[in-house]
Amino acid sequence: MCGIYCYVGKKKAIPILIDGLTSLEYRGYDSAGIAYVTDKINIIKEKGKLTNLIKLVDKNTDTYLGIGHTRWATHGSPNKVNAHPHKQGSITLVHNGIIENYQELKKLLTNYSLKSETDTEVLACLIDKLYQENHNIIKVLSKLNELIKGSYALGIILDDDLNSIYAIKKNSPLIIAKSDIGNFLASDIPAILKYTNQYILLNDNEIVHLTKDKITIYDKRLNVLNKDVYTYDGTIEDVSKQNYEHYMLKEIYEQPEVIKNTLLPFLNGDQKLPNIKKYKQIHIVACGSAYHAGLIGKYLIEKYCHIETKVEIASEYRYQDNFIDKKTLVIFISQSGETADTLACLKKVKDICDTIGIINVFNSSIAREVKEVIYTKAGCEIAVATTKAYSCQVAILSLIAYYNSKTENILNNFNKLIQDLNNLLKNDYSKIADLIKMDEKVFYIGRGIDYTLALEGSLKLKEISYINSVAYPAGELKHGTISLIENDTKVIAIVTDKNLKDKTISNIKETKARGAKVIYITTTFLDEESDFYDEKIVIPDNQLFQPLLTIIPIQLIAYHTAKLRGCDIDKPKNLAKSVTVE
Ligand code: GLU
Repeated sequence: MCGIYCYVGKKKAIPILIDGLTSLEYRGYDSAGIAYVTDKINIIKEKGKLTNLIKLVDKNTDTYLGIGHTRWATHGSPNKVNAHPHKQGSITLVHNGIIENYQELKKLLTNYSLKSETDTEVLACLIDKLYQENHNIIKVLSKLNELIKGSYALGIILDDDLNSIYAIKKNSPLIIAKSDIGNFLASDIPAILKYTNQYILLNDNEIVHLTKDKITIYDKRLNVLNKDVYTYDGTIEDVSKQNYEHYMLKEIYEQPEVIKNTLLPFLNGDQKLPNIKKYKQIHIVACGSAYHAGLIGKYLIEKYCHIETKVEIASEYRYQDNFIDKKTLVIFISQSGETADTLACLKKVKDICDTIGIINVFNSSIAREVKEVIYTKAGCEIAVATTKAYSCQVAILSLIAYYNSKTENILNNFNKLIQDLNNLLKNDYSKIADLIKMDEKVFYIGRGIDYTLALEGSLKLKEISYINSVAYPAGELKHGTISLIENDTKVIAIVTDKNLKDKTISNIKETKARGAKVIYITTTFLDEESDFYDEKIVIPDNQLFQPLLTIIPIQLIAYHTAKLRGCDIDKPKNLAKSVTVE
């Protein structure tokens, strides 16, 4: 969500800023802008896609320092005036986050006239006011935390110091990168890989001063810090589309590999999974697809380990009574490790009970704050709609349940899984997509774990094809929504659990009797010829890892449907990859 990209160095800055912002596009945005230094500070911004901004910039401009931004509007509509950078007095800045007390601050800043509706511009006024008082920007930034409520990652340039970029972050992501051609600030690591793999992580409220050949970082007491420089062990290839038409498709096809990478260290005994048997209750906290992965975790932990487990949406959990104590374990799931609501929940409970993070991005904020982190090895996930990171989360949760219950045959099931995944990925599901591509609504139904897959399938379809789909526990349909089933309504019914098969088939027949066209997803073991479906997808059985197979056709149906509808699959409208605002 939102991207910040700043550069100071030996090369012309505008092409680098545009490149950087392009690689941050996947995070989601609705306008973009840059500020660059010649003999003064120049600002160019535009609403809509980066291509609109690119038309306005001259890549040959003699400038070697600039700050760039892709905005995901939170305060004020996504228009040109509200786009960042914002300039007030000597301060020009880009901001990721939300200033919650901007209305109160505004009342104290009456000398300034605001051009935009954003919270960010108020912050620019505040920083300028403080800067005019003591002309020491580092000191000013060290005081921000006391004055601002909310979250921020900031890249700042000053009228009277045209060789420097300043930065600070709190609860929003920002990294520093260093290279032979200069120094960078970026919202994430993939964005810097074209130029370097050397990066420095920032903690909240550390203050950064970048020049072309120097990086200085201060703590809030203004001591200079000596921070570790990390080397990212991936390449630009990992974040390129290779021969695939979309990142989402590439990421779907990477699943056998990344699930293997995620599980093997545990299966080999190189890494240990946590002992969860000592807890009386488990809470799993997440958002979006990670929440759906959490639901699978709940089913498996309860079934195999007999520990009461509840799964909560982070933005709800945060404001509830959580009823936790030392005997509670809270598991946080987040691909980016920066999901703002999930991070806030972690901060709320971490001093009361044990916490585990299931996280994809190394050393991200949640990874650093949990008691124990388990990394999924999904690699960089660029498509906004998650596929491979979700599967890795499911894989880890499954293994936690099986290891803690000493389940047998894990390795056999795992080997069969990888083989079957590779075979399943050879199938073509575009025929099903063709069937639903013109529909305005689609139903997904299932019971038990299959219901969680229905939820995930429905979310995928909504996210990328904009078809209004709903997921329902199959037995619950008749308590309301069956009224929406009419002639030709598509129902995608998932049946992989033999104990729930007969009951679910009854529910499928109820929809069929009302005119539904049924797409039936089942396993080789449960498969039988019948007349209650119109299309059938049969997937291989797997006693322990069934959801990881079932999800493949579900993901591919969403992908092909979105493609046939001509949607922007990797960057669906209004969505952001890493949701860093609350
Ligand atoms: N809250 C700011 C705005 O609406 C920043 C949004 C963002 O992070 O892109 O302009």
